[in-house]
Amino acid sequence: MKYVGAHVSAEGGVQNAPVNAHAIGAKAFALFTKNQRQWFSSPLTSSAITAFRENCEKHEFKPIQILPHDSYLINLGHPEREPLEKSRNSFLDEMRRCELLGLDRLNFHPGSHLNSISIDECLKRIAESINIILAKTRGVTAVIENTAGQGTNLGHTFEQIRFIIDFVEDKTRVGVCIDTCHAYTSGYDVKSPAGFKETFKKFSDIIGFGYLKGMHLNDSKKDFGTRVDRHENLGTGFLGEDTFSLIMNDDRFNDMPLILETPEESLWEAEIKKLYSLIRK
Ligand SMILES: [Zn+2]
Ligand SMILES: [Zn+2]
Repeated sequence: MKYVGAHVSAEGGVQNAPVNAHAIGAKAFALFTKNQRQWFSSPLTSSAITAFRENCEKHEFKPIQILPHDSYLINLGHPEREPLEKSRNSFLDEMRRCELLGLDRLNFHPGSHLNSISIDECLKRIAESINIILAKTRGVTAVIENTAGQGTNLGHTFEQIRFIIDFVEDKTRVGVCIDTCHAYTSGYDVKSPAGFKETFKKFSDIIGFGYLKGMHLNDSKKDFGTRVDRHENLGTGFLGEDTFSLIMNDDRFNDMPLILETPEESLWEAEIKKLYSLIRK
């Protein structure tokens, strides 16, 4: 089963996200469980939690169709102790919010070395952060998103993601989300059918599809290998239709949230329809 949706607004409360997703014909959704530009938000109220669960049930969203995204402020590989602690506490809070909402995965960008520590040191620090947080939580998988490799952001190669996973103790609760825009601009040719095949062969060999817990379906405003993170609406960026057609017709992407994070949200409903129309009977 293909579950396509978008990163919808949770303005007014998390309980509105499944309603907003249903309204655009989504079969999956992503959301922020708190204000993504603040370190800490007030706890989820029991009425918001109940309403979220009820709305998910009403609109038939199960946890495998939902991929919460963490705050952009968090850097689980931060070189300095104090901001690292703050990031860990904030991520722990987000994992607990997911637990309360009955969700089973939380998507995050691995972290940045800020030119202060080596790549390996930073990756180990990220794995250590994951270990600390998994030990304090239950049932929620930490889902590492591949990045475009902008600035000092890590996670732009499958080898780096594998390196983190190797140091995670509980491998049943670590996963991966592949963003098509980030993959392309970080230097993986997911555009041509041959390049797509090769990229996911590499993914399978280095990481393994068992770890894949979701996909971000974005076109790219920037060209191949630029290492810039700028999403574009489907069909209007450098990627074009083939990438998405290949995903929609590949069973390895079944039964996980396939999430649009494209900039023009008025187009999401049409993009979801378009993606489903790409499935060959
Ligand atoms: Zn992301
Ligand atoms: Zn993404």
